[in-house]
Amino acid sequence: MKKIGILTSGGDSPGMNTAIRAVTKMAMNYNCEMYGIKRGYKGMLNDEIFKLNPLDVSGIADRGGTILLSARLPEFKQPEVRAKAAANLKRHGIEGLVVIGGDGSYRGADLLFREHGIKVVGIPGTIDNDIAGTDYTIGYDTTLNIILDAVSRIRDTANSHERTYLLEVMGRDCGDLALYSAMAGGANGVLIPEVNRSIDELAEDIKERRSQRKLSDIIIVAEGVGHVFDIAKELKEKINTEIRVTVLGHIQRGGSPTAFDRVLATRMGARAFELLMEGESGIMVGMENNKMVTHAISYAWENKTNISLDDYNLTHLLSI
Ligand code: ADP
Repeated sequence: MKKIGILTSGGDSPGMNTAIRAVTKMAMNYNCEMYGIKRGYKGMLNDEIFKLNPLDVSGIADRGGTILLSARLPEFKQPEVRAKAAANLKRHGIEGLVVIGGDGSYRGADLLFREHGIKVVGIPGTIDNDIAGTDYTIGYDTTLNIILDAVSRIRDTANSHERTYLLEVMGRDCGDLALYSAMAGGANGVLIPEVNRSIDELAEDIKERRSQRKLSDIIIVAEGVGHVFDIAKELKEKINTEIRVTVLGHIQRGGSPTAFDRVLATRMGARAFELLMEGESGIMVGMENNKMVTHAISYAWENKTNISLDDYNLTHLLSI
């Protein structure tokens, strides 16, 4: 294989650039040409395909976001749109494709392989850590650390004013960010989509803590649990302390990737390249028990990640 394309798709995550760098530099070692595709499948359709040179990926390992840009293209679910995009790849002589994104992006990649013979390898890039087949996704650790920084800052003001803070973090279906930021940040409660916990119970816990002269409470709320302002309103009716809501929003996605994410992205990028060189296709790379692994790309949408109930219970136990 002499020409490989690479794109980032879906939500951006810190470390995507590190993965782009790793794939591209591996290709240089093998005298293989790399092509960057801008804006994910949108750029593939609009022929925004360009040769990636060494300088393009130099000095990007520590930059958040994605130099290739990311976009969503719902029309990629239509076969005729995929056919046009695949024809663009073929015109450039591109035979293999590295897709960095989530399971939606993987579905598009899988169809490109099945319908048009483009060899595809997926790299899990999303802050949510919601992709089956890998213990961690690229960007998750960075986001977790950003949330932890916010928890420390909020604790100062929460204590000073003796308030109850609800901190909304990302995670629509997956509570990993909320759970582990609560555990590592010593939060006093956590609400995640995987576990049904009533506001009554939360209120009882808060009242109990306050009876022990605790000054403040920090409750981490995953966005998938519900509207955080509605939760605050309901909680307000059950406790006496002053409540504030902080929605961290897109701050969680920016900034330089952590060492962990950079190492993960580098290992995944290099492995994805090797797999294409070995003639593999229709697979995703992952890291399980600190080892690089592969799965059929469909593994990502045929399986769900599981929250650790042991870790949830431990976090709850220590939230007193
Ligand atoms: P993620 O990759 O993070 O899951 P999305 O679900 O938004 O993000 O998917 C990113 C892009 O992948 C979509 O905009 C679309 O172009 C493509 N895609 C998603 N689902 C499919 C599908 N079922 N078939 C083909 N392409 C898809």
